[in-house]
This record gives sequence, C-alpha cells and structure tokens, in this order.
Amino acid sequence: MTGTSRPVTRALRRIAASWVAVSLAVASLLVVVAPAVAADPVKFGTATASSTYGTSIVFKQPVDLATVPKRVELLMQTPGAAGPGVIDVDAPTKSGSSTLSFNVSLADGHIVPNTTFVARWRVTDADGKTWLGPPVSQTYADTRVDWKTLKGKLVTVHWYQGGDAFGQRALKIGDDAVAQTSQLLGVTETDPIDFFIYADQDKFYDALGPATRENVGGEAHADIRTMFALITPAEINDSWVSTVVPHELTHLVFDTATKNPYHEPPHWLNEGLAVYLSEGYASSYRNQVESAAKDGSIMPLDGLVGAFPTTRDRFFLAYGESVSAVDWIVANKGRDALIGLIRSYADGVSDEAAFKNALGLDTAAFQQAWLGSVGAQAPVRHGPLPAPVGPLPQGWSGAAPNPSVQPGATGVPGAAASPEVNPAIGRPPGATSGGLSVGIVAAAVLVGVGAVLIGVLLVQRSRRPHGAIPLAVGSEPKGADLPPTDRPGSVPWSLPAEVPADVPPPDDPWPPPLPPSAPAPAESPETRPPDQPQP
Ligand SMILES: [Zn+2]
Repeated sequence: MTGTSRPVTRALRRIAASWVAVSLAVASLLVVVAPAVAADPVKFGTATASSTYGTSIVFKQPVDLATVPKRVELLMQTPGAAGPGVIDVDAPTKSGSSTLSFNVSLADGHIVPNTTFVARWRVTDADGKTWLGPPVSQTYADTRVDWKTLKGKLVTVHWYQGGDAFGQRALKIGDDAVAQTSQLLGVTETDPIDFFIYADQDKFYDALGPATRENVGGEAHADIRTMFALITPAEINDSWVSTVVPHELTHLVFDTATKNPYHEPPHWLNEGLAVYLSEGYASSYRNQVESAAKDGSIMPLDGLVGAFPTTRDRFFLAYGESVSAVDWIVANKGRDALIGLIRSYADGVSDEAAFKNALGLDTAAFQQAWLGSVGAQAPVRHGPLPAPVGPLPQGWSGAAPNPSVQPGATGVPGAAASPEVNPAIGRPPGATSGGLSVGIVAAAVLVGVGAVLIGVLLVQRSRRPHGAIPLAVGSEPKGADLPPTDRPGSVPWSLPAEVPADVPPPDDPWPPPLPPSAPAPAESPETRPPDQPQP
C-alpha cells in the first residue's frame, strides 16, 4: 500500500520499533587485555550479525582499542534509505579488547521478513579521529517454516506447502508477469525479486505485521523487492494464483517505472494498472462502479490518491474505480498515453503536469470525463474546507495571499483568496490554496487536525533518542493490497486494442479547488466488516 505518500501507521510503527531498538542498545564489554601497545589505535576483528525471527537482530564487532574511545556508533543501512542511520552505542570505558554489540529488539516493532540490513561500526577517539569497521549484512528471515526455493529469470519463489509443480507454476506466472509488465512500461528489471507464498493466514499476517488489513491477500514491498502472497493449499490450483502474482509484481515494476524522490503517483493509478493487467476491467468491478454511480456513492479519484478506505464495500469499490479509470485512459487516449502517463512520474512531475502532458487533460477535466463515462455525478464534497484568508497587514494594497492555517488568526468568512487551483487528482501541493468561502469552524477543524498530527509527531520525536533510525525504512511498499474477489479464470495479459478518441474538455470542470489536506492516516476509524473474506 502506499499512503499520502506513506502509510502513517506503518511509519510510526517503524519509528516506535527503532526507539525500542535503541533503548535496548548495549555495548557488552568483555575486557580481556588491558595494555595495548598496538600500532593500530583501533583494530577491528570480524564483524558478525544474526537474527531470530520475531525476537531480535544482533550485531557484534570485536575490537582492540589502544585508548578509551570517545564515541561508538553503529551505522545501519536499511533498504531504500538515502544513507545509513547512526545509532549511538555506549562506548567501552576501558581500552583493550572488547566486543561491541547492538541488539535490535522486535518485541514492540515489526520488520518485514527478507529485509536486509548492512551495518558497520564507527569508533571515535578523544581527538575526534574516526575508524570505520568492516560492513556486515544480515537478512531478517522468517524461519518458522521450511522454505522450498525455485529460482527463475528474475523471480525466486519461496513456498512451504504444495509440490514442485506448484512452485514451478507460481514461478512461471511471476517471471512472465515481470517480463510483460516491464516490456509494457518500457523498463528493464535487473534486480532479483523474491516471492514468498504463505499457506496459512496466521503466519502470513504475522509476517506482514500489525495493522495489516484483513482484506489483504498479497503485498508488494518495492523497497526490498519482495512480494508476499497468501495462497492456501486448497487454492494451489486456483486461478487466484494467476491473479495475485501478476497483480503484486505489477506493483514492483510500477515502482521501477515511476521511482523518483519527489512525488509518488496516485495510489489509484498503481492499483488500477495492477488490476487492469491481472484481471482487466472485469464485470464484477464494472457492476460495482456502475451501481455506485447510480446511487451517488462514487468516490472522487482525488480521494484515492493515498490509502484506500477500510470498509469492505468501499475497499473493493476503490479497486473498481481505479481499474475503471485506467480502462478509460486506454479506451479514450490509447495505451501509449497510459504508459506515457505512468513513465512521466519518474521525472518527479506533479500530477497536474503528468496528466496534462500525457492525456492532454488537466486532472479536473480527466476526472470529469471519467465520471461522465460511468454516468456519475460529481460527488458532494465533505470534510475539511480551505482555510480562510488571514488578516492583512495595515496598508496592504496587493492581492490577498494564499490562505493558510494560522493558529489565532481570525477567519474572514467569505473573503476571496487568490484562486490558485489545486490539482483535482493527486496530492495538493505543499502550499495551501483554494478560495472558497469558509468560516471559523472550518479553520478550527483544520487547526485541530494539524495540532493532532503535529502532536503525534512531537510525541514520536521526543520518544526517539538521538541516533535512532526507523527500521526497514526507505520507500514504503507501493500498492500493496490485493482485494480477494471472485476471480475470472483467464488473465488478460495484454492491453485491449487501442481506441484513440479525443475527449473534449468538459464545459464545467469538476471539482472546485481542493482544500489543503493534512496527511491522512492510513486507517480510517470505520469498524471492520463483520465478515472476513478469504482471498
Ligand atoms: Zn495492489
């Protein structure tokens, strides 16, 4: 899954994990020899690392120290991170031989299996001179089952139930999916991909960690090039296999095609492509979207740029709308336009630029055209409204600046702001904008939301000791969920024929400017659906 950029719960969970890890950091000192007259003031032995599933990851480094060091740190690199996190570890209080040790406890945090850590130790002496130890890498593995492994061109399948035929079938579907999606999106995949197939739900959810949604049947983690799927023994010969594998692997290739440090593509585009390539715009999705269009419950696409809703109906509808929108692009603008749209994100462009360049429509016009094609009216806007314009300084003669949330500012209901229109699809830009008439209540809501979020962040920061790093950070997994629905048996592994047709821009583009939105939590407060569908 991918959130407003990143799923908040997941991020916080990881931060919490790092806090726990660091709080348990120790430097176990096994001083053996006191005098050290070595030429090398700091001499590193062979670094080691080990991990125990669900318990801990331990890094150890034997050293010979000529003097008492001023500081000892562990530099720990996690997948996708720009650089290593630096963790302060208690320095030995004596010179001589000792073993530096750091224990990453998983008691209150979670690390997804197949995450590889690369760590090295840094010792600083009293004069500030530093010595860097050798790197040691450790892959955190799920050792609860005996994995069988089969290596293909790019994909390596790991499974523990089912015979070799099952593994071979899964591998072929996986390798084919990567090859075809790569070809379609014009990217070359060279890094291997691991594909873990769990046969029982408890182990599967335990591996993915807390806060995994009950509807999830597969998850792709682009940062560690790994996908996980739940395929029970009864489903081994089911068409589910030929859906879940291409779906999740599409996310990994999508990530390769769009990777950039600035701006993630909308979640609906990622999921829409995955469903489109693995199932097509199937009648089940089509019926859902059409009935939502009829009863006015359709969700605007700009509500689906981050995490999807959690209730069962809305969760599935989100996938239906996503694939419907992708289907619209292919049918009306052609397959090349879809590919161009996706690829353009690699340049870090905004949603507005991406849509305009690839489709010739701004995001509002695109959404309007898509809504029209499914017979839907523009949904009524709910939720926070744009902030009011703040008070202007005395003597101010220029145009009113963009409104922003300022605690204590007096709202000016009805005051016109500069009408900078935010993209209708995609995340609003960092700067706030919008110019709707709003009241103090709306401002209070926004301030409240902001305060809560800031509060959460401050709490997290304050609980995070110096040097702590989030575990397994980097890029969050992209597009992770796969809705378990009734699957069509066939997998349409090609895009439908192009139907190029220009769609005239609508007369009255929907919607009005978006309010500035705070990052939404990945989970909504909705209650869980009573039935828990099996994938
Ligand atoms: Zn997905």
